Amino acid sequence: MIRTPRKSKHVHVLGAGIAGLTAAHELAERGYCVTVYDRDHAPGGKAATQYPWLRLRGHTKLHRMPAEHGFRLFPSFYRNVIHTMSRIPFDRTRSANANPDRQERGYNTVAENLLAAPWAAMVRSNIPVRIIPRAYGDKLGGFLRALEDVSTSLHFSEASSADTQRFQLKCLQFATSCRERRDQVGPHAYGGLSWWEFLGGDHLTPRFQQEVETFIRTMVAMDARGGNARTIGNVGMQLIFDLFSDGSGVDRVLNGPSSEQWLEPWERHLRTMMPRVGFRYGAAVTSISYDRARRRVSCFEYEEDHHRYTVPVGERDCVIAALPVDAMRAVLSRPASDELVNEDPSLTWIRNIDVSRYTAWMSGIQYYLERDVPIVRGHVYYPETPWKLSSVSQAQFWGPRFMQAYGAGICRGILSVDICDWEHNEGRHRAVGLLARECNEPKVVAQEIWAQLREAHQFGERSALPERYLGYHLDDSILFASPIQSYPVPDAYNRSRYFIHPPGSHLERPQARTTIPNLFLAGDYVQTNTDLATMEGANESAREAVNGLIEHDHLDGDLCEIFAPSEPAEFDYVKELDRDLFRRGEPHLFEVMGITQTIDGAPPGRGGALALAAGAVRGAQLVGEGLPRALERFF
Ligand SMILES: Cc1cc2nc3c(=O)[nH]c(=O)nc-3n(C[C@H](O)[C@H](O)[C@H](O)COP(=O)(O)OP(=O)(O)OC[C@H]3O[C@@H](n4cnc5c(N)ncnc54)[C@H](O)[C@@H]3O)c2cc1C
Repeated sequence: MIRTPRKSKHVHVLGAGIAGLTAAHELAERGYCVTVYDRDHAPGGKAATQYPWLRLRGHTKLHRMPAEHGFRLFPSFYRNVIHTMSRIPFDRTRSANANPDRQERGYNTVAENLLAAPWAAMVRSNIPVRIIPRAYGDKLGGFLRALEDVSTSLHFSEASSADTQRFQLKCLQFATSCRERRDQVGPHAYGGLSWWEFLGGDHLTPRFQQEVETFIRTMVAMDARGGNARTIGNVGMQLIFDLFSDGSGVDRVLNGPSSEQWLEPWERHLRTMMPRVGFRYGAAVTSISYDRARRRVSCFEYEEDHHRYTVPVGERDCVIAALPVDAMRAVLSRPASDELVNEDPSLTWIRNIDVSRYTAWMSGIQYYLERDVPIVRGHVYYPETPWKLSSVSQAQFWGPRFMQAYGAGICRGILSVDICDWEHNEGRHRAVGLLARECNEPKVVAQEIWAQLREAHQFGERSALPERYLGYHLDDSILFASPIQSYPVPDAYNRSRYFIHPPGSHLERPQARTTIPNLFLAGDYVQTNTDLATMEGANESAREAVNGLIEHDHLDGDLCEIFAPSEPAEFDYVKELDRDLFRRGEPHLFEVMGITQTIDGAPPGRGGALALAAGAVRGAQLVGEGLPRALERFF
């Protein structure tokens, strides 16, 4: 590629997570000189693999084992991050997964390390494992069947059919609502509502209320009452749309540890690009200073090995701050950042952010096992576990050669578990009466979680999970106070909290472009189409930041491509009608026609809510002539 000289001389990227690496990649491809700064010593941030040294049960030797911060899911609606992965070369000979006998050679891209995870399962004790199939064929019929399956997965003995019908109808309402209604805050808009309010959660039976609450928390560390309707609706719809894709690329996982199969090759690639991307690890950024006269960021400071360094930001240099929101808040809270914060309202928003409202604890734990317990080829959700657990068997995707490369063949299974609730429900086994964050030892957390999982997998007297594991590793970001240093022992501390989305938050969130010409923001908390703190959102935000920088350099022809999540074209017609209604200040047509209001009296049985909707079309008096015809066409 021939690169034109850039007006910006040097770009300083703060943070080597997915957002920072994406920004560096896009910039280097466009000929910018880039240096990335990170407080850690490896790339990837929350997506990076950790490598603890463990003594596996019954063995004396220490083994270096791979452990994910939390397992990595790549649903098929991810396009930005996959687009980046398909531009990172992967040298198969360097992989622990390479077959030494066959002398594997050659390059692929890291995107080819993704494997389809075609199934997902819902596991509850003494109930047969509920498998959610991932391919439903055609679009519209598929959507309705997928909705039916998701709602009956939630459906429990005590849930009425009116519950599942309400759930289906509200999902359909969301799917057929225009973007403006979803985004905005105000009368008949969803942006300011919780998912609970949108769903009419108070009309559900208590059992179903519990199901709706816990299911969402098990996936994204937010519950229906605390989570924004827009975020949960948009992402929930994408996940349901995924269910009726052709089944080949639905959910994907990497075929080995994220750092080996993706992040380290990415760093190597960036280091060898021309111009090369430089990395400064162990550098914890502490403040960013602003020169009011020049209206530019003038310098930033970082600490490394207890020394403080100042990096001047030259006249033509730019800064992309790709730090997580809590770290960015700390940086902006330093007096040296005062001038900067006063200059831009989004920076003030970050400095004043209520961390307990906008972030939650969510982290991973790995169990190393003597044998693999795959359960399904995909992810498993345990909605009834107090600490809201989900899991995936890594071994089935990583393959035997990886398992041989670590733990000398002793370990044949890795169950990777996400813990989505550290703050609400008490443990009931080893940590009885304690919230997860109240535990003062990782061992207690590990034993409690294993007992919760075994209980969920219990059928009669037997559990599908073995009684004992060979070893475990809890995310390094969870820090436990030493009982020797402090008494009484305080709660654990999480240095890597997960960004969540309360009602009304979308429009409040900062955008990638700030009012300061040489400062851009990237990270999973920045406003994007993706609208959920994910690797996809982080990647998209970095593309936005780079585009802002390119526009600042007046090189608009060279913008990064940004992929917005797509929805089936079948819904467009009704969404267009909904846009009309919304502009006229009306609610969604299901509400205009009284369908939502009558749902509690809907006839039981399959398709009841949908049949009711279609029936109501015929009697609709409240809407203009076009709408009933449209809805009939839709059904
Ligand atoms: C348990 C768990 C499971 C998850 N599972 C998935 C999943 O399956 N799929 C998915 O898409 N997403 C998942 N996510 C979310 C996803 O990992 C994050 O949204 C994404 O990785 C965030 O990337 P980022 O670059 O915005 O931030 P980060 O990953 O937080 O990167 C920020 C970087 O900044 C560095 N940093 C922090 N402070 C400073 C400082 N002062 N100075 C210098 N550097 C600093 C950090 O070391 C880090 O490298 C999960 C998250 C968690 C917590």
